[in-house]
Amino acid sequence: MRRRALPALDWFRLAAAILVVTIHTSPLSSLSAGADFWLTRVAARIAVPFFLMVSGYFLALHHWQHLRNFLGRTLLLYGAAILLYLPMNLYSGSFSSVGWLRAVFWEGTLYHLWYFPALFWGTLLSWLLLRLGNRCALAGAIFLYLIGLGGDSYYGLAARLPALKQGYDLLFSLTEHTRNGIFYVPLFLLLGAQGIRLRTGTALTGFCLSLVGMSAEAFFLHSLDAQRHDSMYLLLPVCMVFLLALLLNGNRCRSHAARDLSLLVYLIHPGCIVAVRVLARLTHSWDILVESSLPYFAAVLVLSLSAACLLYRIRPLPVNPKARAWREVDLGALCHNANVLEQAAGPGCALMAVVKADAYGHGARVVARALFKTGIRTFAVACLEEGIALRRAGIRGCILILGWTSPEQAPLLARWRLTQAVADTAHGAALSRTGYNVHVHLAVDTGMHRLGIACEDVEALAALYRLPGIQVDGIFSHLCVSDSLEGRDVSYTDRQVSAFRTVVERLKAQGISPGKIHLLASYGMLNRPEKGFDYARAGIILYGVYSDDSPVCFRPDLQPVLTLRARVAAVRELASGESAGYGLAFTAVRPTRIAVVTIGYADGLPRDLAYHGGQVLIHGSFCPMVGRLCMDQLMVDVTEAKTVQPGDTVTLIGRDGNAVIRAERVAEQCGTITNELLSRLGHRLPVVALHQSGRS
Ligand SMILES: *Cc1c(COP(=O)(O)O)cnc(C)c1O
Repeated sequence: MRRRALPALDWFRLAAAILVVTIHTSPLSSLSAGADFWLTRVAARIAVPFFLMVSGYFLALHHWQHLRNFLGRTLLLYGAAILLYLPMNLYSGSFSSVGWLRAVFWEGTLYHLWYFPALFWGTLLSWLLLRLGNRCALAGAIFLYLIGLGGDSYYGLAARLPALKQGYDLLFSLTEHTRNGIFYVPLFLLLGAQGIRLRTGTALTGFCLSLVGMSAEAFFLHSLDAQRHDSMYLLLPVCMVFLLALLLNGNRCRSHAARDLSLLVYLIHPGCIVAVRVLARLTHSWDILVESSLPYFAAVLVLSLSAACLLYRIRPLPVNPKARAWREVDLGALCHNANVLEQAAGPGCALMAVVKADAYGHGARVVARALFKTGIRTFAVACLEEGIALRRAGIRGCILILGWTSPEQAPLLARWRLTQAVADTAHGAALSRTGYNVHVHLAVDTGMHRLGIACEDVEALAALYRLPGIQVDGIFSHLCVSDSLEGRDVSYTDRQVSAFRTVVERLKAQGISPGKIHLLASYGMLNRPEKGFDYARAGIILYGVYSDDSPVCFRPDLQPVLTLRARVAAVRELASGESAGYGLAFTAVRPTRIAVVTIGYADGLPRDLAYHGGQVLIHGSFCPMVGRLCMDQLMVDVTEAKTVQPGDTVTLIGRDGNAVIRAERVAEQCGTITNELLSRLGHRLPVVALHQSGRS
């Protein structure tokens, strides 16, 4: 018969947690005092040493590398438990301020919470003892345990010697128990760390015999009335060595559920004890529910287990955003760019951060919040939904919607205090008729012939300023060939600029105050640094990239903000002549290693990238794409990059080591501009914000 894989250690954790509940509910007390003494004061005393030994076992298994994490986690749990039981502490009003300090640092703030400070200090002490070598550490821990024993079950005997009694009385003026981080914890932790293995028969016999021996020891001490407490026995460590060896033999796998449930039961059962008692009072069933010990134990146990199961099911399980494919956004670089561009715009001209299309694929929430923090108060988006999303992200100030919004949506524009660009005279009139007093900027068409009121029609513009029902806060136009330095285009831009200036002058001449005036977008700022406007609408260059590599008049010191990464899902070997992918579009001409990468065209990558020399970076080296890009995956040739393994990080845009793939280059390969490439990066890619600049 095949042996099933048992998570013996984790299952026993759950059993040990139930034993702790036993200690605090005395299930047999109304049946037999002797039986209850044996169960709760002897047998159940293996529970806490077991937890300590498992901790020692796993710490040693990983060569104590996880010590910091372990201590941090212990403190975190302890902190959470203190908060959890704070209402009970306050209700019982049990501590003075000095008492609180002592409780928090040493004794635990509720009866079962002594375990966490003990574990913390005991683990630190064990680690220090181990500096002396394993044997010395063990000897030291045994010595400490013996001292602790004298203050626990053996106190009555130890106290017969006056010198010892004095010593212990001094000790007890400092600490209530000796089952703490100094005397009790190190021995069990270090015994666990030994990972002693025994044959199952030996371990079982040893455990049974030492348990019988420990029971005899306990009843003997009890009969002498020697016990001050009953946490420590001479035979307890012996018993525990056999128990751990027994469980290690049966331990074939892990059970995270059992491990977490045991911790939860341990943490919450005192709360459940209170709940059962309150319930018993309210339902007048004190006699059955509390006075009879077995139903009392059962009620507390069932409640603790149910509450633990519920908490286990709803515990937070965060998804790692870097598990498949993601966008890394360097907020340091973003703020640097905003700064540089604001300087470039000159005095009196503020930056209007264009964060449409999810901030050009960088994640509008993260980007807008970072810019808002640096002091930017004017944002531009393309549509109503984007504007509302920014408001929901806590962005205040002006949010201008550059695209057309149906006048039916005027209530939303008003509610979210969004500013709407007026697309033409009819749009403005329709907005005014809604009666929602929408804030607007007038778009002026100076030659692009997209949106806007014709620049020749000054009367129409002036009429819009006078319309009731809309509030005109500004006027703007858009340049359509400012990215070109060719003579014909430059003179077209000249005519656009002067047409816009003329419109503004003529409005002013009619006594109209035009509000905020803005014209330049990214390429206007780079190629036509005009003065005299209130805003510069920076889009693509805010993200540290150019639309393409064509020449510009002025190259500010910008840093790319976005890095696009994915992971290697699998590595495949192809023999010479074998083909791969849809349409078998790739055929190996030599033995080839192929890595499958976890990103595809549904994430926004252009599907023809693989045909046009697309590459990725793995371990800082270029690897060419092969075959057809799939919806969710792509393949690269890693024959040269021999160490590539599943799980490795793949860079599609950005830096990896000394190598860089520029967004401009990828866009050019696919015959487009970075604006399109980046703005298509899909919502399936989580945004990971980096807070320090990537620049070294
Ligand atoms: C998108 C857009 C911008 C920003 O353009 P960039 O070239 O990315 O700076 C500015 N103004 C208007 C009207 C836009 O539509």
